[in-house]
Amino acid sequence: MKLAQSGSQPHPNEEIRLYMRDHRRTLHRSPEVGLELPNTHAHIAKALEQLGLDVEHRPSSGVTARVAGTDSTVRPVILRADMDALPVQEKTGEPFSSENEGVSHACGHDLHMATLLGLARDLVANPPLRDVIVVFQPGEETDRGAVPTLEHQNLQIIEADTYAIHVNSALTLGTVNYRFGTFMAFGDWFSIDINGVGGHASAPERVGNPIRLGSQFFAGMIELAIGLSRDGEKAVATVTEFQSGNTVNVIPAAGRLRGTIRATSEEVRTELIDGMREIIGLEHRDMQAHLEIMQGYPAVVADDRALQTLISVLAQGQLAESLVQMPEPSMVIEDYSYFLQKWPGAMVYVGAQAELNPSFNHSADARFHEDAMDTGFTLFRTIVDADPRVFTT
Ligand SMILES: [Zn+2]
Repeated sequence: MKLAQSGSQPHPNEEIRLYMRDHRRTLHRSPEVGLELPNTHAHIAKALEQLGLDVEHRPSSGVTARVAGTDSTVRPVILRADMDALPVQEKTGEPFSSENEGVSHACGHDLHMATLLGLARDLVANPPLRDVIVVFQPGEETDRGAVPTLEHQNLQIIEADTYAIHVNSALTLGTVNYRFGTFMAFGDWFSIDINGVGGHASAPERVGNPIRLGSQFFAGMIELAIGLSRDGEKAVATVTEFQSGNTVNVIPAAGRLRGTIRATSEEVRTELIDGMREIIGLEHRDMQAHLEIMQGYPAVVADDRALQTLISVLAQGQLAESLVQMPEPSMVIEDYSYFLQKWPGAMVYVGAQAELNPSFNHSADARFHEDAMDTGFTLFRTIVDADPRVFTT
């Protein structure tokens, strides 16, 4: 039986590093948003086929492949990367910047894909003990892509462990950031439609103004979220889109706000939604406001033993000095939570901060250091090669 050896955790060799870098840059140049990612799907499927793997490729639900281990009696490990980009115009100045107008890999999912491809290549060349299922999932950002991806034939297994990384451009390069309990928040999306009659800009006393009302809603929601952020809990309410008006001298008749709410527990999530309903349900002069809540993702909660296993095996090797315990949950949301509802496992942040660039994921100028893929590779290869007896049974 092959065991994880102290101090010998694998680092990608130069060939794998170049392979990951090339895939990352190619994928970065041609980002796609949502569930339908025809070019990205084709790229990943082709790369896995070139490694000699049997590829399960379903439209709108990603690409998976099972890499055979040397002992079929050991339960497999499922490693997941997400594939989708964001509707953000890139301003990083990278020589391999997005060639698709208004779309970019501002969340670093290109690094996730490239890391997992590099790992698959290494696993084929140096077979592990356990089978490894590599999962490339579309539609993480807002399309709940994990759900259709979990229907892959390759994932119809009951006994398995699962792990995933997320690169973070605001955390120190090479760090592995983990948290017991809630790692990432509960989250939902909302839309508020305001309808009135509109009127002359010179007479605001005569008609309600949806821009003013929408601004009051936003301010009220922020106050509400601050009020709920106590006793170790946290709530966030953010408006990300506000549409109203089209000229300088007419009070518009309608407005629309959209955005997201986040909470560290189900209780706070409920209180936040109830509070919003109260604010938006009040009388608003001659305007009506309607709130719609679109259910988002459950919280990403690590399995205690699976996370402890990961930390223990990493602490014996090259990444021992890289481990950082997060004091509080990230308010980001992630549909990897659906994987963690099926199998024990954990997600961690891998620090990917580029020199002199503090921008966080989703910013137009968020740059991700490519060496973060080395950390991701080492982390994955270490957990795959760990003694199976240390995993939850
Ligand atoms: Zn992401």
